[in-house]
Amino acid sequence: MTPRRLILLSTFLAAGAIVNLAVAWGIAARAEIRWNPVGPGPSLSGSGPGWSRDVEFEILESLPHAETGARVNDSFAAGWPARAIGWREIQVLDRTRRQLVPEPTWLIVRGVEAPAPARAQLFSASEGRLPVLPLFPGFLLNTLFYTAALALPLGFIAIRRRLRIARNRCPACGYDFAGLAGAMCPECGAERSEP
Ligand SMILES: [Zn+2]
Repeated sequence: MTPRRLILLSTFLAAGAIVNLAVAWGIAARAEIRWNPVGPGPSLSGSGPGWSRDVEFEILESLPHAETGARVNDSFAAGWPARAIGWREIQVLDRTRRQLVPEPTWLIVRGVEAPAPARAQLFSASEGRLPVLPLFPGFLLNTLFYTAALALPLGFIAIRRRLRIARNRCPACGYDFAGLAGAMCPECGAERSEP
């Protein structure tokens, strides 16, 4: 692969990742989440294409107490076609007592608070949290998906160019070179010998 093609590919991959992120944040901004602050059970419920919720129990090895585990209280994932980015709200549990660690409850949110103006106007629906946790393989799949979508017109132009050269036509405009000599296309002035 030539350096020029490598730069082109990197540019398209970066653009694909940006589109992926923009789509996921767009979905997050529009997702409907209902907040239920009272009583046991799920504190959040919701609907919409970006919504998911799961409760699971996992041991967080990095925590200072060996007897503590963590429960994913709420998780949010957004993205299209796959869920690509999200946030997770984790509550720390005392496993010996099978209950939440007394106040202050340790709450770890893997996500960031959206900037205040965006929080008020855009992300109020998703609890004001900007999902920044990449989810795999979704993030990778979506990035490749949008990269391919963005590069498609370029691939089409390259294929058309090769077909025109193979048919002895001008690679730029398609003018028929049959019976013609010369280094330039008489129609558009493009070089004939271009690869
Ligand atoms: Zn031409």
